[in-house]
Amino acid sequence: MLNIVLFGPPGAGKGTQSEMLIEKYNLIHLSTGDILRKELANETDLGIEAKKYMDQGLLVPDEVVIGMIGTQLENHIDSEGFIFDGFPRTTEQAIALDNLLKEKNMFIDAMISLQVEDKELIRRLLERGKDSGRADDQSEEIISNRIKEYNLKTAPLKAFYDKQNKLFEVNGLGSIDYIKNNIHSVIDNL
Ligand code: AMP
Repeated sequence: MLNIVLFGPPGAGKGTQSEMLIEKYNLIHLSTGDILRKELANETDLGIEAKKYMDQGLLVPDEVVIGMIGTQLENHIDSEGFIFDGFPRTTEQAIALDNLLKEKNMFIDAMISLQVEDKELIRRLLERGKDSGRADDQSEEIISNRIKEYNLKTAPLKAFYDKQNKLFEVNGLGSIDYIKNNIHSVIDNL
């Protein structure tokens, strides 16, 4: 089994790289952002509640996303592994994930962290906002909140996984193929 946390700030390229990883390694892609947007599109209670936070670029409460991940792990228990994209985003979530996995005799093999500077993130997100239809990609103020949330609550998780000797940093600047190859070489050397 192979379980990877694909990590990085909003706009680092986690979604794009996840799509390629799931194909090569036959993994399940678990993106909490995608799941929340689906809930929102279906106008579920959870989606409507989450929208209040997402529209401001703030993190949705831990218990909501932890519950979603627990359900997804149960639903794909026979898979060859998972790419966690956009989760965990707080220490609380990282501890909960370790516990959920432990119950199933599973563990995280690596956190692969994509490094991209803030100016480039803002440029990419505004560009994506032109046709992604995502309200949170269209305003510099919301984008700036998302980056602030990342720096304050999410970036400290690098130390969390580093302590477990599972942190691998990859340059997130360059062509999609260049970044993909660097990620593959991390995984192939695990
Ligand atoms: P993303 O698609 O990963 O950029 O996530 C979009 C938005 O969904 C974020 O700005 C948060 O409001 C919410 N979200 C996604 N994943 C999480 C998470 N793990 N914890 C809290 N909020 C999340």
